Formats: sequence, C-alpha cells, structure tokens
Amino acid sequence: MTNERRAVNQVPFAPDVFTWPADRPQLIGGRCPKCAAVTFPAQASCPRCGTSEMQEHLLPVRGTLWTWTTQDFLPKEPYASGETLESFSPFGVGLVQLGDEVRVEGRITVADPAELEFGMDVELVIVPFRTDPDGTQVMTYAFQPV
Ligand SMILES: [Zn+2]
Repeated sequence: MTNERRAVNQVPFAPDVFTWPADRPQLIGGRCPKCAAVTFPAQASCPRCGTSEMQEHLLPVRGTLWTWTTQDFLPKEPYASGETLESFSPFGVGLVQLGDEVRVEGRITVADPAELEFGMDVELVIVPFRTDPDGTQVMTYAFQPV
C-alpha cells in the first residue's frame, strides 16, 4: 500500500461529480461541442444553444475565489453529514472561477473569513464528508487556498 489514505474505503457522495479514486481528482463537467459552453455539474443539454450532444469535460483544478460565505450552523436536511448540533464544525461555502471556463459552488476548507479574500487562488481537494456506520468514508469536494 503506497498510499495509506486508500486503506480506508472512501466513496464519492455521488457518482459522476468528480473523478475518484484519482491521484489528482477533477470535477466532471460538461462541454458543448457546438458553442463551447461549459457546465457543472454535467447537463444533458446545453443551457446556451440547446443541443443535446453535451460531452464529458474535466474541469481545471485551480481557480480563484469569486465570492463566499460561511456556514456557521448545522444545515437542515437533506444535508447528511452525520454531524449533530454539538459536533458540527463551521465551514466556508464559495463560488470559484475555474480557469476561464465556469464558476462552481463548493465548500471552502477555511471557515474563518479573515483567511479568505476575493480573487485568492484556490485548488480542488477531496475531503471526508461523513463516516458511515461500516467505516466507509463518504467524500465530497472542496476548495482550499493555495
Ligand atoms: Zn451549446
């Protein structure tokens, strides 16, 4: 075993959202072959020109923080982190511009607004979201300052 992280069973929270397992995970978006519009998540048809020939397109892993807020209380269902009011830890939520392609909403690994600034460089990371009773870690994506 060259990578101890993989000793734990880790599964994505949903299929087709990011490449996993992967040494360098990427978000899976869609790209229109006719007008080059990029979407995340992938969509069956192009929101710009309406074609239904969208192709899978892996998104850049680096981007810039466009805007953000912090989630300071436990979100209501269907949020399913397994946390309780007592165990909940705040996290940031941001809109990240990936390359010149698309803006993506996601968690930010930093919850302290003092550590965040507009336009700062961030990169995609895959982080544990919750641990199921059988020990399986359910993973989600987030962005961390570079
Ligand atoms: Zn299109």
